[in-house]
Amino acid sequence: MTFIKNKPNRTFSKEYSDYKRYKLPLKKDFNERCWYCDTHDWIYQWHRRYQIDHFKPKRIFPELENNYSNLVYSCPLCNSFKSDTWNKEWINWLDPVEHDYNKHLKKESCWKILPLSKEWSFIYYNLKLYLHIRQVHNLMDDLTILVRKLEEKFPLETSTKELNDLKLKIYTLREKILIKNEQY
Ligand SMILES: [Zn+2]
Repeated sequence: MTFIKNKPNRTFSKEYSDYKRYKLPLKKDFNERCWYCDTHDWIYQWHRRYQIDHFKPKRIFPELENNYSNLVYSCPLCNSFKSDTWNKEWINWLDPVEHDYNKHLKKESCWKILPLSKEWSFIYYNLKLYLHIRQVHNLMDDLTILVRKLEEKFPLETSTKELNDLKLKIYTLREKILIKNEQY
């Protein structure tokens, strides 16, 4: 399975003096997904709990604090694991806007993430992409995509009762997983 579903693209050009104002443009440019793990923000109650990471930490690079090209749409997990970590290995981190992440990371059919190169093993372990919760997020993401396809093919008004009951069961199951995820 490919790692990145939709390649991010920085299109926003307006400049703000406070980086926090960039959250919605980042959400759009990063296709509502965490730059580091590709988790969709709906898993964390949409963008409310998503964070703005400074790829080059603002503590070390204060001049980049409000620079849009240094900002990353990030899930709370990746942002907390990365924190202010900065050393030579991070310099090897490739900008996904310019590079194909799918050549460096992959998802197994069991939704487990694996690194494909030595350099990226550093990032893989630092961001703890091996954690079981990452697999759960990937599984939920694929489940949601399937549900959306089902909704498109069989809109509520045209579905049979049997199909609607089945959809309701899927939604309930998804909500239960979400609640468990919240407890994490
Ligand atoms: Zn993440």
